Amino acid sequence: MLSPLAKGLFLKQGGGGVASRSGLFRTIESVVRQRCPRCHGGRMFLGWVRMYAACPVCRYVFEREPGYFVGAMYVSYALAVPTLILVAVLVHWLWPNWSGLTILGAALPLFLPLAPIIFRYSRVIWAHLDWMVDPSAGSGY
Ligand SMILES: [Zn+2]
Repeated sequence: MLSPLAKGLFLKQGGGGVASRSGLFRTIESVVRQRCPRCHGGRMFLGWVRMYAACPVCRYVFEREPGYFVGAMYVSYALAVPTLILVAVLVHWLWPNWSGLTILGAALPLFLPLAPIIFRYSRVIWAHLDWMVDPSAGSGY
């Protein structure tokens, strides 16, 4: 018996229980393209940080309950910390004689332009994870 998360990862939606990896690849493609977790067709964002309230294709309401995207902060943290470390390592590689504090001071301004991207992907990943765990709750409040 597969857990709901495993079903979301490895089974096609509506596949009648036939195991397939296409569900995983479709989900990854949908996350990369920032598309709706339910139909994989509709865009989730209409601006840099402005989201559609519902999917323009299937009308799936992205904010499934009040405060829904608070959970995306965990994903944002998981994306931001390694990214900042990577930028700091890059700065250290370019200027190996700089102190740790100077490297951090240089890495932060280089990291800041990436914040909107991290914000968007944190919400997209959160919505997809939630959909994989609980697709039955439908959309809306
Ligand atoms: Zn949709």
